[in-house]
Amino acid sequence: MPSDPPRPCPPLVDAHCHLLAEEFGGGPGPVLGEGRAAGIVRFVTAAVLPEEWEPSLALARAHSDVSCVLGVHPWYCGRTSPECLKSLPEALERGAVGVGEIGLDTVTDRTPFDLQLDFFRRQLAVAREMTLPVVLHCRKAFNETLAVLKGEGAPARGGLVHSFAGSAEVAESFMEHGFMFSLGGILTYRNSPRRAQALRRIYPDALLLETDAPDIPPVERHGLGPNTPANILYNLRAASEILEVSEEEIACKTTNNAEKLFGFRHEPAF
Ligand SMILES: [Zn+2]
Repeated sequence: MPSDPPRPCPPLVDAHCHLLAEEFGGGPGPVLGEGRAAGIVRFVTAAVLPEEWEPSLALARAHSDVSCVLGVHPWYCGRTSPECLKSLPEALERGAVGVGEIGLDTVTDRTPFDLQLDFFRRQLAVAREMTLPVVLHCRKAFNETLAVLKGEGAPARGGLVHSFAGSAEVAESFMEHGFMFSLGGILTYRNSPRRAQALRRIYPDALLLETDAPDIPPVERHGLGPNTPANILYNLRAASEILEVSEEEIACKTTNNAEKLFGFRHEPAF
């Protein structure tokens, strides 16, 4: 495995990160700077609780290359009440590019599944009504999530399954509902033929790159502190090795896909 840091290869979009995470104690300024130096032209930060909605909007207002999605993450539904979702449409209207991070997780013991389901359905309805894409956390809950999408309808603009770990067949089912997929640190564990097959099915039209910073660092950066958006270069290099496609081409395609899904544009700097 190469140990030297990969070289920047702009333009890139970090389609899923958490810039307000407490791991970035002094604020996201330094990691934004490093990310830009690595070639990131757009960061999509995801709020996980209502108290992050306003600060996320403020961050997006302060930085023209930051966008935000707002929602309640399935792990944290128990920390708030469904009442808070009444103010979600108004918050979204003030400049969010999607509803997220929302979804279902059958592994966690933090939130009873019924409560997750209630929050998920309500937030999906908001996305449908407001014609916004959704950003999904979907951990060992593919069937459950697809059943909701089938029963109640997916948002017209589809969405993103972030940190996607499913098979090519599962990817196919989500694509029928207009979904794309973002992959990050898990790409760097280059040991899964099943993942490679899924990646080949998703690429080129439905793949985005993410870091999920401060979580899921690439294997090369394990134990070296919180994950940061700049580490997206390791994920890009791994995708390039698995797909046998150049980093430049993957950067281009994934950036175009992100722009298509979230509706933002970047001005080419080169
Ligand atoms: Zn996340």
